[in-house]
Amino acid sequence: MTAAQRKWIDVAVIGAGPAGVAAACAARTAGAGRVVVFDRDAEPGGILQQCVHTGFGLHTFGEELTGPEYMHRYIERARRAGVEFEPGAAVFGMEKPESRGDRQSAAFWVSSARRGVERVEAGAVVLAMGCRERPAGALGLAGTRPSGVYTAGSAQRLLNMGGLLPGRRAAVMGTGDIGLIMARRMTLEGASIVGVFEIMPWVSGLRRNVAQCLDDFGIHYHLNSSVRELRGYPALEGAVVEKIGRDGKPIQGSEEFIPCDTLLLAVGLIPENELTRMAGIGINPATNGPVVNDLMQTSCECVFAAGNAVAVYDLADFVSREGERAGRNAAMYAMGRLAKGGRDIAVIPGENVRSASPQIITGTEDIALYLRVSSPIEGKCRLEVSEGLFSADLRCARPGEMNTARLKASDIASLPHYIHSVAVRVKEA
Ligand SMILES: Cc1cc2nc3c(=O)[nH]c(=O)nc-3n(C[C@H](O)[C@H](O)[C@H](O)COP(=O)(O)OP(=O)(O)OC[C@H]3O[C@@H](n4cnc5c(N)ncnc54)[C@H](O)[C@@H]3O)c2cc1C
Repeated sequence: MTAAQRKWIDVAVIGAGPAGVAAACAARTAGAGRVVVFDRDAEPGGILQQCVHTGFGLHTFGEELTGPEYMHRYIERARRAGVEFEPGAAVFGMEKPESRGDRQSAAFWVSSARRGVERVEAGAVVLAMGCRERPAGALGLAGTRPSGVYTAGSAQRLLNMGGLLPGRRAAVMGTGDIGLIMARRMTLEGASIVGVFEIMPWVSGLRRNVAQCLDDFGIHYHLNSSVRELRGYPALEGAVVEKIGRDGKPIQGSEEFIPCDTLLLAVGLIPENELTRMAGIGINPATNGPVVNDLMQTSCECVFAAGNAVAVYDLADFVSREGERAGRNAAMYAMGRLAKGGRDIAVIPGENVRSASPQIITGTEDIALYLRVSSPIEGKCRLEVSEGLFSADLRCARPGEMNTARLKASDIASLPHYIHSVAVRVKEA
């Protein structure tokens, strides 16, 4: 392939969502020379460009902002700090990092209409590509292949950025946050929602979204229910839904035909990890993102990662916070000044914990450990990190809501030398 070789970049960030922009800003503030953010989209802002509802920024700015307002503040801050943005630039290849003297450097491939195909070298990279929605093809839905089936996020983009209403009578499959938000959004635009169907015995999105997006609008949701079959061709005419028993299997005879012209899928998010895999970075099977330590550093020492590319977060504010950590440490690495604390200690998901991030702690910085429980506890429960690193009472614990354990670097650093792992658990109090 003939391709131009671009001028050296100190810290390259892939993805201009809340994680990438916060990382870039922090990298410049920490002293990195040239910091460039690449994004395949036409404008920076990531998924928040299409989130016109409020709910962003409560933790960071102490006020409720829309997604575009929240991102505008960060993008302006980054521009003032001297961050360069390259929109319309898709990163399509990542090389395994190579050692140069005492450090590694990274190289990746970018394609853009403006500059063609280029090979880019950087002192450090921050992976901030976000996540993608689980598509219809992954669900094994029976029936025809009609038009009118959208992931909730793509319907949101059509409506909020394209001004197009995907349909007039919609069913929602799954109770992920985007589906709940879109049920409300489509109602506000005059469509009717015929039901929200969730296969699990619990809602997978945030409680506040159930209250604000479904309950407040009289939209019914059905737990232990799933869409089994699509009918209609070439356009969707309806969906067959069925009840799911305690054994997780469909209940015979419970099928019901629901007329609708649109089906929105809100059945899970998966970190974008193709570039991560290409670089040879270790993947955590529980999160599907890279294994990271408390510096947000991956198994390739010059590659850092943040945001939904690491694990699916529930709040953008947390994404920005972890982005800052990744960007600052990437800058320190590129400048040859990254001071890593002690040895690596593995964080193991224990009782009722599905995933925890970061997966390695070193005691270099105070950190927040983000975790999701496997099944809900509707009542007082206790979150513990073993070896006395953390314990707190929780009012409840739900898979859709992240829990946080704040760990002190000094506590981690003073663990006895024979401790190589700590366990996180959430149990009934
Ligand atoms: C519909 C929806 C509603 C939400 N509502 C709320 C809410 O009310 N409150 C709240 O706090 N949080 C909310 N969230 C969560 C929040 O938006 C996400 O946690 C956050 O956007 C994740 O940020 P990110 O930077 O990791 O990823 P993203 O915002 O997804 O950004 C990733 C960026 O990477 C780019 N990219 C990916 N691959 C490449 C590549 N190969 N080359 C170049 N660029 C690439 C993408 O174009 C994108 O711009 C919502 C999320 C969604 C999807």
